[in-house]
Amino acid sequence: MQDNAKTEVEQNRKELEARGYRTYSIATSRGNVCTALNVNEDECRSFFGSSCSYSFLSPDAPYILAGKNIKDTSTVVELPGGSCIGGGTMSVIAGPCSIESEEQLYETACAVKSSGATVLRGGAFKPRTSPYDFQGMGVEGLKLMRRVGDAVGLPIVTEVLDADDLGVISEYADIIQIGARNCQNFALLKKAGRIEKPVLLKRGMMMTIKEFLMAAEYILSEGNMNVILCERGIRTFETETRNTLDISAVPVLKQKTHLPVIVDPSHAAGNWKLIEPLALAALAAGADGLMIEAHVRPEEALCDGGQSLRPDKFQQLMEKLQVMAPMFGTCAVS
Ligand code: PEP
Ligand code: MN
Repeated sequence: MQDNAKTEVEQNRKELEARGYRTYSIATSRGNVCTALNVNEDECRSFFGSSCSYSFLSPDAPYILAGKNIKDTSTVVELPGGSCIGGGTMSVIAGPCSIESEEQLYETACAVKSSGATVLRGGAFKPRTSPYDFQGMGVEGLKLMRRVGDAVGLPIVTEVLDADDLGVISEYADIIQIGARNCQNFALLKKAGRIEKPVLLKRGMMMTIKEFLMAAEYILSEGNMNVILCERGIRTFETETRNTLDISAVPVLKQKTHLPVIVDPSHAAGNWKLIEPLALAALAAGADGLMIEAHVRPEEALCDGGQSLRPDKFQQLMEKLQVMAPMFGTCAVS
């Protein structure tokens, strides 16, 4: 965008803010444009004239910032170290369900990194059904994960359960995960919208796609435009799998939003034997990435061992993804 156009956009933005409107800077194919929501269109048109590059939207559409009307390019979430999520590459986030020890995390991180994973996952604060189960290592786990991520050269993602921990988690993590159980914790979503770090938002197990997009809208509306959506299975009457992977959510979301969409087959299936077919299905359905639980010794895992891939199986899956990704118009795993 030309410098004078940029200055005009900035001036108009200030003017709109002074008139009490919230504005957002949105990256489109025309460069960064300023968007004001809920404006009085007549007032703004008469003030700014018809040549103005602003989008005037009504709040009628339930999700405005997450929708494609406002942004005609795919959102690409950039990560430290030069990798990114979205925009035509297949990212693979992998690691243990929970951080258990330095040895476990480091060995697992080395294994997934050498197979081509692009982001390391691991929970320090775990949402467990039972209060008597392992709840995670907390801040000690965050520190450990930062060290391991740096040592192996992978950005890290970890979950926030409590808004009070957002500050400390953002200090250590590169991506903040909001899990299925908190996907409609609107107070947490709003606070996550005010931090600088990207947010990986997992679909709640009882949520419709529209509700999922509205949850993302909470984060976007606070100014954080770096949101990654994750389909991780929904609850149905089926009991053969932990959840039911809603594979159709992938193309539906890709039609409706510019945000990257990834799939977590681990929590969808609850069984390591189903991870490979579901991951390949996600690739074929158009996902921008995968989140996969992996563990060097799943039988010793304190959480979700039964759905975690051993390094050899993870490697096998990565090899298949590498071969198949170009067939589906996606670049090889980056
Ligand atoms: C997780 O990724 O560790 C997790 C708890 O997932 P979900 O929120 O999808 O259940
Ligand atoms: Mn898990």
